Amino acid sequence: MKIIIATGNQGKVKEFHQIAELLGIKGIEFQTIKEVCPEADFDPEETGSTFAENAMIKAKAAAAIIEEEALIMADDSGIEIDAMDGRPGIYAARYLKTNGIEGVLKEVGDSKNRACKFICHITVLDQDGKLVAENESYWHGQIAQAARGTNGFGYDPIVIPVEYPENTVAELSDEIKSKISHRAQASSAILESLKSLSKN
Ligand code: IMP
Repeated sequence: MKIIIATGNQGKVKEFHQIAELLGIKGIEFQTIKEVCPEADFDPEETGSTFAENAMIKAKAAAAIIEEEALIMADDSGIEIDAMDGRPGIYAARYLKTNGIEGVLKEVGDSKNRACKFICHITVLDQDGKLVAENESYWHGQIAQAARGTNGFGYDPIVIPVEYPENTVAELSDEIKSKISHRAQASSAILESLKSLSKN
């Protein structure tokens, strides 16, 4: 089985390989859309209003340019912060570009409710654009008082995950993060359902 991932991010491909290995799934070949169609400038506009809609937009855009027999996997992720009424949500990347993580610390201020959650939605289509599998997973935590740690990316230095109340995500190893994160949970669920599909 071949899965083409609708991202240019090699890090995500590596993560899928690791999770497939952890689950004992053999025989799935992962490639990015950039590897399969290097000439295509794959950067669809994320105009959806939910993670599910944006993942579907990316998956459909990829399905439209892929000619070979393969499944197409796309993901969309972000973070919802209670003290910011659920923002930045699907606009997490854009918020970070404009305001940085300092923007979050400022907006959350000394708020007592510091709950937040990372979200990851993964959608898998066949090459005709038909839905094969879909999952949305959450990783709960708290917004820290100040940024700490150097691993990871994005909001990691200001999120304290429920599983490790002494650490921010940026203070966890890649190995731990890749077992418990929102992306790890969604990827595992998807790969498990593909595993059972491939058995039928
Ligand atoms: P996308 O999945 O590339 O659309 O990512 C959206 C944005 O959400 C990223 O640019 C990050 O700012 C944020 N984000 C998603 N997942 C994580 C994570 O695991 N750690 C930190 N930030 C994340």
